[in-house]
Amino acid sequence: MNEVYALCVGDKTVPRSQFMYRDPSPDTCTIAFYFWLILSPQGPVVVDCSFGAAEAERRRVANYRDRTALLAACGVRPEDVSTVVMTHLHYDHWSGHDLFPNATYFVQESEIAFWQGPGRATPMFAASADLDAIDAIGPLQQAGRIRIVSGDWALQDGVDVRLLGGHTPGLQAPIVQSEAGPIVLANDTFHFYENLEQLKPVQVTVSMLDTVMAMRAVMNLADGDTGRAIPGHDPLVMQRFPTIAPGVARIA
Ligand SMILES: [Zn+2]
Repeated sequence: MNEVYALCVGDKTVPRSQFMYRDPSPDTCTIAFYFWLILSPQGPVVVDCSFGAAEAERRRVANYRDRTALLAACGVRPEDVSTVVMTHLHYDHWSGHDLFPNATYFVQESEIAFWQGPGRATPMFAASADLDAIDAIGPLQQAGRIRIVSGDWALQDGVDVRLLGGHTPGLQAPIVQSEAGPIVLANDTFHFYENLEQLKPVQVTVSMLDTVMAMRAVMNLADGDTGRAIPGHDPLVMQRFPTIAPGVARIA
């Protein structure tokens, strides 16, 4: 049976108003940065690449943890990873792709089209990307290391992927069968549990309506159980699930 882990690479103090649509509060809150690991009978599957130490410094991320050490706590070496499912291509999910020298990256067609078109060309969107990492997609495609997917698809037995969009046009979410039931790695469909509870997106959202519909879809996929819908950036994940090492929570 599949095991699912959340790996936390660091955190940052941010204005709450940026992460709760139209929230008038002057308060700050803490955002955590994750990537995820599925230990499956067919081998490890990594969900997102996260980012390296240089990008962490550039973005003023605190308490940065080395991703190789986080993976090692789960018995995985980066070079052993052949499959990475990319939820979307924001900097905190994609800029660290060079950690995995032998991986093929599964990315939605609409996500690549967005970032090679209006996403890259519009400063408001481009601010959330690492443009060098976006420009690396072409060469990686030529090297046969990008697998373009379109719509809903199945990675392998027990791991299906849904195209949800909203936060970015090609945002996709893996659904992993586990002993605890299906786990929805909803990633940035909602950053915090509170976004889901209030059906309020964060400000970094390409389509508000699509994001609200995506949040509703996630709850359906998780059978209404918020314990199986995993947010993209909520520090509470590290409290709600048991930790097996610093920065590593076992979700299922
Ligand atoms: Zn994002």
